[in-house]
Amino acid sequence: MLFSWLRARRRRALGDRPFPPAWHDILARLVKQVQWLDEAERERLHRWILMFLGEKRFEGCRGQEITDEVRVAIAAQAGLVTLGFAGEHFDTLRSVLVYPGDYLVPRSTPLDGGGELEWKEARLGETWAGGSMVLSWPGVVDGGRLRDGPRSVVIHECAHLIDLLDGEIDGIPPVGPRPAREKWRAAFADCRARFEQALDDGRATAFDEYAAESAAEFFAVASECFFQDPHRLVRHDRQLYGLLQEAWRQDPKARVPARSARGR
Ligand SMILES: [Zn+2]
Repeated sequence: MLFSWLRARRRRALGDRPFPPAWHDILARLVKQVQWLDEAERERLHRWILMFLGEKRFEGCRGQEITDEVRVAIAAQAGLVTLGFAGEHFDTLRSVLVYPGDYLVPRSTPLDGGGELEWKEARLGETWAGGSMVLSWPGVVDGGRLRDGPRSVVIHECAHLIDLLDGEIDGIPPVGPRPAREKWRAAFADCRARFEQALDDGRATAFDEYAAESAAEFFAVASECFFQDPHRLVRHDRQLYGLLQEAWRQDPKARVPARSARGR
């Protein structure tokens, strides 16, 4: 109790610091979504960035330099998606590891005849329940500049963090009391089944097939599209948009101009 009070006080002090003028330029260049916010939202985002950067440790891996540009671009994209959650600061997250490109993760699977098949899989980002987030810097830039269609690695990893708030990364974020939650879960499962059917039928989908990996990945990839290209998601699955609106407590399609979100 005392600890959380102290932490809240410390956070307020961090948020009260002046937002460095040079950071506005970083936001304008690297986090295009900020242009869609109104004055009050922008102010809240600035405070959130100051708090996030005051609390989380950034580590450059494989020679990646950690500059203000790197820190602010990541914090701003994370802050944008948490605007609907007053007081959410990803308490479990302690460090952000940044790579200068995709990084390779060792994978293995047992073979039928015995033995193991081992390979390395390239990844853009990853979230560990133990308190770290791993990001590829080019992936962060592509998401912030809206150059990767509906994809954004920072939003993806933040979706896993929001999903984790109720204890596990299972594709079910905290959405109100139990009855509402059960209803949400069932409707979300319907959307997932529709998406998988569309893939099977070879029909166009709002986002790519990585979403079919698991319920958690479906939530994360759909959330990327929800924020990066909300009109596209509405066109493909209005019900899914509504469920994500409930989960994220935001309505991005109300502020993102339809034209600028298309065709990237
Ligand atoms: Zn994921």
